[in-house]
Amino acid sequence: MGTVRQEIINLLMDREMTARQISQALGIREKEVYDHLPNIARSLAGQGKKLIALPFSCMDCGHVFTDRKRWSRPGRCPICKNGHIQEPRFRVVGF
Ligand SMILES: [Zn+2]
Repeated sequence: MGTVRQEIINLLMDREMTARQISQALGIREKEVYDHLPNIARSLAGQGKKLIALPFSCMDCGHVFTDRKRWSRPGRCPICKNGHIQEPRFRVVGF
């Protein structure tokens, strides 16, 4: 499992990617990507790097989910009750 996390980190140091793109690049399920993200965020904190996520936003009304604490995608928009939530892009940045 450690190797998958390192591969995700390597991918995200080069470019921004969505969870789906990461899952396709590594041949794992999208849910597994979301499972790894909190652990990756923790381990990077000790390396002077940081995992950042561009906020989710609603494709219908433009609502931005700025106060999300979890990494996974919200089911639907609380404002317009629609389910077209744009996928966030993840990125690893150093200091
Ligand atoms: Zn909306």
